Amino acid sequence: MTERRTIGVIGGGIAVLAAAYRLARQGQRVILWERNSYLGGQAAAFTVAGSELEYFYHHLFMNDHDIRELMEELGIGDDLIWLNSSVGFFADGKIYPLQGALDLLRLDFIPLHDRIRIGFVTLYLQKRTHWREFEQITAADWLRRAVGERAFARVFGAQLRAKFGKRYDQVAMVWFWNKLHLRTQSRTSPLQKEQLGYIRGSWNTLINRLGEAIRENGGEVQVGVGTESIEQNEDGTWQVSTTDSQTVTCDALVATVPSPLLLRIVPNLPDWYQDKLTGAVYQGAVAMILQMSRKLSDIYWLNIGDPSIPFTGVIEHTNFIGPEHYQGNHFLYISKYLDQNHPYLTMSEDDLFEEYVPYLQKINPDFSPDWVSQRWVFRERAAQPIITQNYSERVPEHRTPLHGLYLANSAQIYPEDRGTNYSIRLGNRVARIVQNDIDHGLIGPQKV
Ligand SMILES: Cc1cc2nc3c(=O)[nH]c(=O)nc-3n(C[C@H](O)[C@H](O)[C@H](O)COP(=O)(O)OP(=O)(O)OC[C@H]3O[C@@H](n4cnc5c(N)ncnc54)[C@H](O)[C@@H]3O)c2cc1C
Repeated sequence: MTERRTIGVIGGGIAVLAAAYRLARQGQRVILWERNSYLGGQAAAFTVAGSELEYFYHHLFMNDHDIRELMEELGIGDDLIWLNSSVGFFADGKIYPLQGALDLLRLDFIPLHDRIRIGFVTLYLQKRTHWREFEQITAADWLRRAVGERAFARVFGAQLRAKFGKRYDQVAMVWFWNKLHLRTQSRTSPLQKEQLGYIRGSWNTLINRLGEAIRENGGEVQVGVGTESIEQNEDGTWQVSTTDSQTVTCDALVATVPSPLLLRIVPNLPDWYQDKLTGAVYQGAVAMILQMSRKLSDIYWLNIGDPSIPFTGVIEHTNFIGPEHYQGNHFLYISKYLDQNHPYLTMSEDDLFEEYVPYLQKINPDFSPDWVSQRWVFRERAAQPIITQNYSERVPEHRTPLHGLYLANSAQIYPEDRGTNYSIRLGNRVARIVQNDIDHGLIGPQKV
């Protein structure tokens, strides 16, 4: 039988929680450090109006199997619920419902033959199953060729710009294809309404259950404690210094921090691996949540196709999970993806709200700031890795070149787009790699 090892895990997001749970179940001694005062990272929720609501809007697609399986295993499978969603596109001062393929024909701000082209291209992309054919070309080049410049600029290009700003033309087609492909899986036919998944009680239901399961299996979960520095001992084990002045020796470390952050805590990684880490470029995200007395629109997910509007989308959560779950209040996220220097990442909440009000009135002219009883702003710098051409060649390996140091973060999710389902898959995978290395005697003090 292999010896029990001490595995330190850095970060308490979904990926690390899944990895820590698996390793604790395998009998390893797990110590988890999360610098925030709560677990769950980007998927966590906070208390509003007697319920829990995610800091950043969350839903699942029908083919998110890893999260379903984990929830079943943890005895909370029944908390995953499937509900009708409603999607819209805002352009030319109007909300265009996009419930099925036929709605594309109603986008009357572009000529009919452009709409027909968009419809055919969408159906074509939904049917393609091999991501590799979309790896070597950017979404902008592929889509421009497929639907023509005018339709591209008004529809697909507008969406790409809204999400990736000035980097919109660097995103690989594989990212765009994957988005369409996923959405198809959430419908049984192109004419059917889309169903999306939500976790009863918010993502915290899963996050809290994972935290409990780690503890039940002998793991230690420390929240409000960040890792400050990590250093490798001569025998290959790791010395971790934390923000509450602990120094802990671990046989191995699993880090789920964004790639640039790993470089800051472990500066002596070999150049070729550093290049892979610095190659990961992220879009940040700013989410403003409004608690309102009335709804803004009837749509859950509203993509913004109007270039004068400074945000990416409006996600009206209570058009998905009804206001009766929140003491009758309506909750709406105003979502903005942005680059790392964008002023919204540091702007005060009041100024940001002032900035947004006229645009919310563009969407619904009746909107008044009086509808809003509370508001919050949450910001995340590593929200969306930018997937560029031939990304498969640049994904950093989970097993870093330093003995006993492993990485599992969203820049390693490929060809799928990042999301909690894939973070769980990542956590499961890295736990298997670590366990395998333990079984082969590759983890633990080495002879010096
Ligand atoms: C706006 C937005 C919308 C999203 N919508 C969806 C959605 O609809 N569906 C979906 O499935 N996913 C969605 N996601 C993505 C999903 O939330 C993330 O992909 C997933 O939660 C990432 O998990 P992770 O564990 O990889 O990273 P993170 O959640 O980022 O966790 C990393 C953790 O590491 C901690 N940390 C960092 N440095 C240290 C340190 N030195 N010491 C200790 N702790 C440290 C951080 O505090 C953080 O908690 C969304 C994300 C955003 C931003």
